[in-house]
Amino acid sequence: MILIDGKKAAAELRAELKQEVTELKAKHNKVPGLTVILIGDLTPSQIYVRNKEKSANEVGLKSEVIKYPDSVEEKAVLGKIKELNSDETVSGILVQLPLPKHIDKQKVIEAIDPSKDVDGFHPMNVGNLSSGYESSIPCTPLGCYLLIKKFQPNLNGKKAVVVGRSNLNGKPMTQLLLKENCTVTITHSKTKDLKAECLEADIIVAAVGIPELVRGDWVKKDAIVIDVGINKTDKGIVGDVHFDEVSKVAKALTPVPGGVGPMTIACLLKNTIDCFKRSQI
Ligand code: NAP
Repeated sequence: MILIDGKKAAAELRAELKQEVTELKAKHNKVPGLTVILIGDLTPSQIYVRNKEKSANEVGLKSEVIKYPDSVEEKAVLGKIKELNSDETVSGILVQLPLPKHIDKQKVIEAIDPSKDVDGFHPMNVGNLSSGYESSIPCTPLGCYLLIKKFQPNLNGKKAVVVGRSNLNGKPMTQLLLKENCTVTITHSKTKDLKAECLEADIIVAAVGIPELVRGDWVKKDAIVIDVGINKTDKGIVGDVHFDEVSKVAKALTPVPGGVGPMTIACLLKNTIDCFKRSQI
């Protein structure tokens, strides 16, 4: 079994992006800028945002974090987004989720100019991705896609099973695999026989949030298995795939941690740079 090393792939991607930022700076005399809005003091969100800022600085992006207390009014956040939409130094805007209950997540997502939507959640970008047009692609599925393509560049005709149908992961993942001419089955909590579906797959992407759901006897020999899950358990952080069992049958597997996670942040930087490049045309 080959371990798909997301940490290494993310470091390689960041090095490429750093080089690209240097070239963009020389050409345009400015660098792409990422602005993150962080509301409240949830510890995981604070850690994610700190890591995003650190990585953005590392590749040479201009990065800014705007912090609001939990009690901030929705209209203040929407007003700030409007301001950032027309700020030429801002290439990408990200509002860290989850949001406090009194703020309408969809309203916030739709307030972001689609051309600056580095999370790829705006309905315009969702539509563009499913229509096969250029768009920002949600960072986690984009990271999974790049890991799969790095391992196996030609996916023509492969049978892929995506476990989970969230807007964040499962649905965009399905679109990316379709674009590569895979035959894709998307599964969810009402799927009748998940094991039987997985056993058909050349590629499995698990994004469910159930620790070690995908077992060794669910996986075809020589399958590529991508584990998106991050689950806190008594034995520490585990994925949605039973690593010990699946590593005995799969051709390739991502570990948790050190698989998809590091690629997510690297893809956020890639999306910011891509937004900047599209704005310069
Ligand atoms: P989510 O929004 O909760 O969606 C979970 C999906 O799994 C839903 O579509 C649900 O089906 C499906 N599901 C639930 N139980 C199932 C079952 N028994 N069999 C098959 N499908 C089932 O989760 P998410 O936001 O996509 O996140 C999934 C996992 O990825 C979580 O562990 C999360 O922490 C992790 N994650 C990791 C990263 C990263 O950077 N690595 C980023 C984001 C998320 P229904 O639609 O029918 O309810």
